[in-house]
Amino acid sequence: MGNQKYQKELSIPVITTNRINMPDVAEQILRDGDADMVSMARPFLADPDFVKKAQLGKSGEINTCIACNQACLDHIFNQKVATCLVNPFACKETEWPKITEAIPKRIAVTGAGPAGLAASLILARRGHHVTLFEKGDEIGGQLRLASQVSGKEEFRETLRFYRVVLAKNNVTIKTSTVFQPEDASNFDEIVYSAGVLPKEIEIEGSDLPHVVRYDQVLNGSVAPGKNIVIIGAGGIGIDTAMFLIKGSDPESKQEFMKRWKVDATWSQRGGISAIPEKHISSKNITILQRSKGKPGKHLGKTTAWIHREELKLLGVKYLDDLQYKKITSSGIEISRGGEDIFIEADQIVICAGQTSNLAMLDEIKSYGKPVHVIGGALRAGELDAKRAFEEGTRIGFEI
Ligand SMILES: Cc1cc2nc3c(=O)[nH]c(=O)nc-3n(C[C@H](O)[C@H](O)[C@H](O)COP(=O)(O)OP(=O)(O)OC[C@H]3O[C@@H](n4cnc5c(N)ncnc54)[C@H](O)[C@@H]3O)c2cc1C
Ligand code: SF4
Repeated sequence: MGNQKYQKELSIPVITTNRINMPDVAEQILRDGDADMVSMARPFLADPDFVKKAQLGKSGEINTCIACNQACLDHIFNQKVATCLVNPFACKETEWPKITEAIPKRIAVTGAGPAGLAASLILARRGHHVTLFEKGDEIGGQLRLASQVSGKEEFRETLRFYRVVLAKNNVTIKTSTVFQPEDASNFDEIVYSAGVLPKEIEIEGSDLPHVVRYDQVLNGSVAPGKNIVIIGAGGIGIDTAMFLIKGSDPESKQEFMKRWKVDATWSQRGGISAIPEKHISSKNITILQRSKGKPGKHLGKTTAWIHREELKLLGVKYLDDLQYKKITSSGIEISRGGEDIFIEADQIVICAGQTSNLAMLDEIKSYGKPVHVIGGALRAGELDAKRAFEEGTRIGFEI
């Protein structure tokens, strides 16, 4: 039988794929007659029980694929075994221990970023009594900031998954609660997952009021400027530029197709009607990077080129291989190739890396309980959510 909706054009059934990551998306496609079947791959890496949970009406318990490509396609392009950022068990099922009952202990997990969330889930599933402390008013840590960036909103699905499954596994979640060192006396062991803090920079003028951190921009505590210089061209610098231009809202299908000149008449070869043009933006953004190289040089192969292309189309300027000289009230002075350059700016956003948040670690240890340090608190260098989820999962089996 051919496809009903496109029977004029097609006499065979249609299977569609890509970004069908939740049962309701699949159902909608079938209901609208856009395809006769849906095909999925990455969503089953993120959650092998996807179909079972959908059948049982438990979509809230699905660990959703967020389309990051970081542990599946990027691994394959680096000749590594594919796995999944949100599910470190994927394709490594036989390498992880089985979830077995532990002698129950009272465990405090201090910080609900990805490391603390993953640790809490495995510990609770093994029968421990877990209390998860989070000083913010919601779980998620830096992933909450990431989910503010248009195009990364699916991290919110990861946080929905943890809200549902942690409650199901009886984890006590204390948001808006700072774990204090003296709380250690109420627990048998402590998992220290306090994450990272934005790095400060030492440039003359960095204490001026228009010099702000990426977290202040992304959490809305400072209003965005108009002429903006971003210091740091890593993933967070690029995301901050995207947020400043595109905000938090996901782009609609129509906007996306218009921006990338997708041919909606499906008559052009390759599905593109013209070369995408530069977009007019109300922000004038320059990203600076001290070292030589492309922006986002540590991002994965499958996505870095898209970010670079987007930055170009959005008119974001980029300068590398430079020295910072000083920040003034009207901009920043740099030296590049033996030349001094002044870039006017009403806002300077610092995205220059992170340091481990060790604020209370020594004091907590002084209570004599075993303390396990994971995620960004253990090592801030080359940290990402993949490593944080993996380390949280690992400690979940070790206690
Ligand atoms: C804008 C942005 C985009 C990003 N995009 C990506 C991406 O696409 N892919 C990727 O892999 N990674 C991305 N990251 C990085 C990723 O979010 C981090 O690597 C990861 O969140 C680190 O996890 P963590 O659990 O170690 O620490 P964090 O996420 O920093 O979480 C630590 C938590 O501990 C809490 N805390 C600290 N002290 C206490 C205390 N005493 N009591 C209670 N709570 C406490 C903090 O409030 C925080 O919620 C992004 C980050 C940002 C900012
Ligand atoms: S690594 Fe990212 S894109 Fe790949 S399956 Fe997991 S969540 Fe999806």
